Amino acid sequence: MTNQEIIALNNRYLFPLYPRAPIALVRGNGCRVWDADGKEYLDFFASTVVAALGHAHPGVTRAIVEQAQKILHVSNLHHSEPQAVLAELLCTQSFADRVFFCNSGAEANEAAIKLARKYGAEFGDGRFEILTALGSFHGRSIATITATGQEKVRGGFQPLPDGFRYVPYNDIEALEQAISPRTIAVMLEPLQAEGGLVAPHPDYLRLVRDLCDRHGLLLILDEVQTGMGRLGTLFAYEQSGVTPDIMTLAKGLGTGVPIGAMVATEEVARSFTTGSHGSTFGGNALTCAVGVAVLHALTEEGVIENCRIQGQYLRERLRRLQTHHDRIRDVRGQGLLLGVELEGPGAPIVDACREAGLLINCTAEKVLRFAPPLIVAQYEIDRALDIVDQALRQ
Ligand SMILES: *Cc1c(COP(=O)(O)O)cnc(C)c1O
Repeated sequence: MTNQEIIALNNRYLFPLYPRAPIALVRGNGCRVWDADGKEYLDFFASTVVAALGHAHPGVTRAIVEQAQKILHVSNLHHSEPQAVLAELLCTQSFADRVFFCNSGAEANEAAIKLARKYGAEFGDGRFEILTALGSFHGRSIATITATGQEKVRGGFQPLPDGFRYVPYNDIEALEQAISPRTIAVMLEPLQAEGGLVAPHPDYLRLVRDLCDRHGLLLILDEVQTGMGRLGTLFAYEQSGVTPDIMTLAKGLGTGVPIGAMVATEEVARSFTTGSHGSTFGGNALTCAVGVAVLHALTEEGVIENCRIQGQYLRERLRRLQTHHDRIRDVRGQGLLLGVELEGPGAPIVDACREAGLLINCTAEKVLRFAPPLIVAQYEIDRALDIVDQALRQ
């Protein structure tokens, strides 16, 4: 099928929920993807910050084929080796003691919210309120849009569940003032991604952790986008010098297969017991086998190291671009999750880049988001930056 044929079918039959660009992607290799008409693009959005290892990664393909030849899915009423191995890897590589597997970021955050509430009910004097940040994004389910500090995400879906309140990000005093006798947890992104790539002040997360400790609150970090090497360490929290009580993962964990995880310390995890929560597909053998391959590549094949090096290089190149273009207001972000804030709307630049063979994204209206696969090479960054430079000149 051609781009036009695929687009016509989608427009006819799908809910029109997404602002889709007029191309259909049919295959990929590394940082490159091709549309249905054969045009090649550099994928500097990694299919919504998902393709951590790029497209058609040989180790991932091998894991998929080998697992598919054995068994695709094992009921959670039985045990499964890929699930056990991935859970062990996630725990030994992080602060966590226990893992719950699911299929998406929203589900991971739902699980985190439920765990915090259950912990509050059983060990926290019945406290249930969760404080989240303005400008945050935590997913599209009813509980996670309620946790999301953006009115445009919640509009039209009332009534929403009680027990969520919002505070400005990076404002420790506002957070302290917002704590009530009912508060059980603080839920934050270690870097606000959808909200425009807003990084925490250097000591913000440490101060939040102190506050949580003083008030007996759980710290939930939503690492759905920042986790899995994206910011140059396996998890973003490692750079803050503090550990959360609960962390959520998804996007990069499966580099394209749908998998999410909610991990926690034993102290908090003990409030989830048989029947507290569950998911039919959570911990699916195929997706967990891929998760194992992803973790292996990230930690054993130098992919995180590459993210750090190329992230630094991309950032420098973007900074240099800023000196040539008055329209660029700010360059920010970390690792390979970088934002370029423009004077005006970013959508025309995104379109011009796509026409020229580069896929990037715009978030918070004015912030161009650069999030290539973590395996990106320097020459690919050079090519991408030439295209952005041209687009900004037009
Ligand atoms: C993408 C994202 C989510 C939602 O993940 P889904 O898989 O779309 O449900 C939640 N939190 C953050 C920080 C995200 O970037």
